[in-house]
Amino acid sequence: MSRYDYTLVGAGIVGLASAFKLKQAKPSAKVAIVEKESDVAAHQTGHNSGVIHSGVYYKPDSYKARLCLQGYAELLEFATQNDIPHKICGKLIVAVNEAEVSRLAALQERAKANGLDGVKRLGAEAAKEIEPYVECKEALYVPQTGVIDYKVVSQRLKKLLIGGGVDFYFDESVLNISHDRSGVTALTSKRSLQTKYLINCAGLYSDKISEMDQELRPQEFSVGSGDDLLAGRSEIRILPFRGEYYDLTADAAGKVKGLIYPVADPAFPFLGVHLTRGIDGHVEAGPNAVLALRREGYRWNQLNIDELFESLTWPGLRRIGANHWRMGLEEVWRSISKPAFLSSLQKLVPSLTAEDLVVGGSGVRAQASHKYGELLDDFCFEESSRCLHVLNAPSPAATSCFAIGAEVAKRALTSEVNL
Ligand SMILES: Cc1cc2nc3c(=O)[nH]c(=O)nc-3n(C[C@H](O)[C@H](O)[C@H](O)COP(=O)(O)OP(=O)(O)OC[C@H]3O[C@@H](n4cnc5c(N)ncnc54)[C@H](O)[C@@H]3O)c2cc1C
Repeated sequence: MSRYDYTLVGAGIVGLASAFKLKQAKPSAKVAIVEKESDVAAHQTGHNSGVIHSGVYYKPDSYKARLCLQGYAELLEFATQNDIPHKICGKLIVAVNEAEVSRLAALQERAKANGLDGVKRLGAEAAKEIEPYVECKEALYVPQTGVIDYKVVSQRLKKLLIGGGVDFYFDESVLNISHDRSGVTALTSKRSLQTKYLINCAGLYSDKISEMDQELRPQEFSVGSGDDLLAGRSEIRILPFRGEYYDLTADAAGKVKGLIYPVADPAFPFLGVHLTRGIDGHVEAGPNAVLALRREGYRWNQLNIDELFESLTWPGLRRIGANHWRMGLEEVWRSISKPAFLSSLQKLVPSLTAEDLVVGGSGVRAQASHKYGELLDDFCFEESSRCLHVLNAPSPAATSCFAIGAEVAKRALTSEVNL
């Protein structure tokens, strides 16, 4: 049986950056990463918008606000040191009616509270100087926002980790974990790994890994009902929200110089479909947000009955449905109707036409939902004596990966001292 100091589940950018930070803090540590796919960045990390977020949206002092700003700086430093192409192009948040104009003011306040300099309100003409094809009442310009390819960052991290002696176990799923006197045993589809400490960065399946941790279960007894206990459910469930993209044709791509966003609805954790000129120069439109029919369901025809049943019967989803049914229906309609998707984009750039859009890729967000409430707004970590579970790491977790990694390493090292 192989023995490690730290074993991480999941080779997305959060698992990779956490292993990197652990090795930086304790170079002698024996570290393993178990990943069910054949390479790094196979799910959320390899299917995102590639935006380096500035931290404008997040509640001051929340994990998202703190770790996004800290992670932003570390990501840029890492990219510079490792010659990873990236660009700080700034972004324009576009208000097209009076209600949105008043929300812009709130966003500007939040940017200030989060310590961002140089975020400025622009009138319609000044906005056009940055994005000539935009039509708006007012806009907010955020100079810090940029673009990068997170797959490239992940590949670089993999190389550095392998160079630092980290063992990768690809094509291997963690099926169970159990605590014993000397540590934790992770049973994978191919072997047993003995580890002093286990770190769960399994993204869309992070709730499933946390449910395997017997030490977390007693907490459910105190808050859950008998039925929940019998069902073996924890209080947090990952709901998979697919985001679909269109690509702009080469001719139409000239209508977008950088990043153009709508004013996000503060009641919802998603930012609304936007236009992004990626680091490779091609322009994407999206992503929308529809409940996926399986956790790794990238298209409508990818269905897993058990996973869908679990999502639909989750009390938290019913609550979200009750509060946001109109937005949910609009999102489904925008997913199946190209004219509806186009009409959202035309609010930002009115001259876009259906011919400018070709079907693009998609990604699935791992969005945690509390059983008795809403979608979890902030990043979420849960700990037992020898396990740390990263239970909610949606956007801007790619931007924040090094700061999340530092938080994970700090908790793991402190916990080890206390054992
Ligand atoms: C459509 C979309 C757009 C986004 N845009 C941005 C953006 O522009 N900027 C930004 O900062 N963030 C963005 N995000 C968010 C960002 O991509 C994620 O927050 C981040 O990638 C999460 O990384 P992760 O490592 O936690 O998860 P993942 O990348 O999903 O990695 C988890 C890994 O765990 C593995 N795994 C799961 N279960 C097991 C198991 N039992 N055994 C072994 N391995 C397992 C999976 O195969 C997977 O590789 C976006 C996300 C999406 C979906």
